[in-house]
Amino acid sequence: MAERALVLRTVGEMQALSDEWRCQGHRVGCVTTMGYLHEGHLSLVRRAGRDADRLVVTVFVNPTQFGPLEDFDRYPRDFEADRSRLEAIGVDAIFAPDVAEIYPEGFSTRVEVDGLTDRLCGASRPGHFGGVALVVTKLFNVVKPTFAVFGQKDAQQALVIRRLTKDLDFDVEILVSPSIRECDGLAKSSRNVYLTEVERRRSARLFHALQAGMSVFRRGEKRVDRVLEQVRADLSGSGEVEYAEAVDLETLRPVERIEEPTLLAVAVRFGGARLIDNLILRPPEAA
Ligand code: AMP
Repeated sequence: MAERALVLRTVGEMQALSDEWRCQGHRVGCVTTMGYLHEGHLSLVRRAGRDADRLVVTVFVNPTQFGPLEDFDRYPRDFEADRSRLEAIGVDAIFAPDVAEIYPEGFSTRVEVDGLTDRLCGASRPGHFGGVALVVTKLFNVVKPTFAVFGQKDAQQALVIRRLTKDLDFDVEILVSPSIRECDGLAKSSRNVYLTEVERRRSARLFHALQAGMSVFRRGEKRVDRVLEQVRADLSGSGEVEYAEAVDLETLRPVERIEEPTLLAVAVRFGGARLIDNLILRPPEAA
């Protein structure tokens, strides 16, 4: 039988529990999520569980990272299913506050990470990474983790959080865990439920296009325009391509030749869903 996890709804309760654990010398691991958990999230939780004495998962659909025309209201939610999945893994606590607990009346602070946030997803989602940086700052101050695990699927988010943690001297180690995919290659996402049957079939092209780009690179092609030509050809007819880019893995600046580890990243819109995915191209000499 799975152990019950403590469900904490307030900042004060969560901080008190974390203080107690840290005082006892425990390593506190944390995975932040917006819920509607799937195997991608759970792989992060299991990864955190390997290194943690006490494990906290946050479940909070954060309004500040959604644009006014985005899907905050219809974002899928199912707390009881999330809770039983987390209890089956053996999570100690679930921090699931409501919006007013995190953003009480009068809340007026912002957290901005310059540079990394205006490219790729930041270009079409102004304010998105500011909202992510703000909520992660708050969640780190509330959960007070020793370390936190983020997914490679949201590569830009993981970079922004690393930058933020370094710049603001958070004493939190950031780990990044690989993308988990469906059998046909589609990266698991809570938003995949928005896809119609036809879109769902087409959506596997994101990963296949990235793989096709990877193959071109592995055959010795270092010119980014040639690699992207292949990616774009494979994406055509899948959905509305928002971007297909190859950027430096650290700075996210576009590169012309793949001489250093490079992030090959795509975003494609399918009707009501916007899907993202990425692979890392590592030149053998830079590995
Ligand atoms: P979200 O609930 O979408 O905010 O995601 C919470 C965390 O799970 C983030 O660190 C994501 O990068 C990570 N994540 C989401 N989908 C996947 C996936 N398919 N594989 C690995 N990590 C994922």
